[in-house]
Amino acid sequence: MRDPTSFLAQEYGDLVRQELDWKLRILEGPSAPWCQIDGHRVLMFCSNNYLGLSNHPRLKAAATEAVATHGVGSGSVRPIAGTMDLHAELERRLAKFKHAEASLVYQSGFATNSGLIPQLAGDGDLIVSDELNHGSIIDGVRLSRAERAVYRHADADDLAKVLQTAEAHTPSYRRILVITDGVFSMDGDVAPLDRIAAVAGDHGAMVYVDDAHGEGVLGPGGRGIVSHFGLTRDQVHVEMGTFSKAFGVVGGHISGSRALVDFAYNRSRTWLLSGSHPPPTVAACIAAVDVLEQEPAHVERLWEHTRRFKKAMADLGFRTGKSTTPITPILVGESARAKQLSQRLFELGVFALPIVFPMVAKDQARIRTIMNAALTPDDVTFAIAAFEKAGRELGLL
Ligand SMILES: *Cc1c(COP(=O)(O)O)cnc(C)c1O
Repeated sequence: MRDPTSFLAQEYGDLVRQELDWKLRILEGPSAPWCQIDGHRVLMFCSNNYLGLSNHPRLKAAATEAVATHGVGSGSVRPIAGTMDLHAELERRLAKFKHAEASLVYQSGFATNSGLIPQLAGDGDLIVSDELNHGSIIDGVRLSRAERAVYRHADADDLAKVLQTAEAHTPSYRRILVITDGVFSMDGDVAPLDRIAAVAGDHGAMVYVDDAHGEGVLGPGGRGIVSHFGLTRDQVHVEMGTFSKAFGVVGGHISGSRALVDFAYNRSRTWLLSGSHPPPTVAACIAAVDVLEQEPAHVERLWEHTRRFKKAMADLGFRTGKSTTPITPILVGESARAKQLSQRLFELGVFALPIVFPMVAKDQARIRTIMNAALTPDDVTFAIAAFEKAGRELGLL
């Protein structure tokens, strides 16, 4: 008899031969600025932990205390017996932080996009999405019965054309949903959300922004992209985000009107059918909101380091693309070069992973760096020197 699982080893082997498999690096300890990876002491230069909160004493203390008072598990899904006072408090605190009427917390950002998007648009509706949106948005759109269209990356004029063409063809859509990432994670560019919201408004469309990489980074106090552009809840209807990046913990969330939240938790299957956050996670998220409100220095330092690093890379002659955020891609061309540069940086004490085909086009391989507020100015100097040395050795400069 043929082994029905033989494809597993075969297909994995194909990935290895094409060098498309993930080789996991093991972090031996916390995600701190200097960390131990596979036995090497290196500077962390590619985590999403923008503000260093994943190892912040207030978050750790809150998590420990919640274990003592509430245990390690919630006991259920949120609608049955898994909504604790902590979950309700986090949602109140987040809504206040976001200046929104209400917020709702999901288990992850992926669970938010894949659970909510298919409920917002279905049969007889249209979803229009930026061509470079995150995979969790793409999966959410795939789960919907709505018609789909894509507009050119970060191009509000193209969005207007796509909407006009779609409406000329089908004049009677029930609803239209426009979705974009706030900050695009591969290039570090920011969606022109003001112009997107204006175009969507002309067509009576809902606007959904996934601000996973903008929260804790953009806007006053790190409130995110909606604050950054000074937009209102009538212009951006769903502000989605995650606690797994700058907030330093894990979990997805939305902010908007009370009606949005009431609808979302009654309809999102990921929210209804999957266990809720354990108490230490929720308590750490509440503490993260506290820290953002009370310690503005983290966001300020993130931007100081970012400006300095971007200028140093440009002065050295590296190509850094069109990023305007703490994500700075170092573009090197072929995949093999990006892998060599990453390996050499690792030897020199800087951990930054290569991003290669198929995540980006074949000639657009890069090292993606993500700045971190927990670094000292000396750490940034160290990283710049390592990039200069590795860049010269590999003939990139
Ligand atoms: C990371 C990310 C997500 C997923 O968030 P998780 O909470 O980690 O599941 C969704 N959207 C974007 C744009 C992201 O960068």
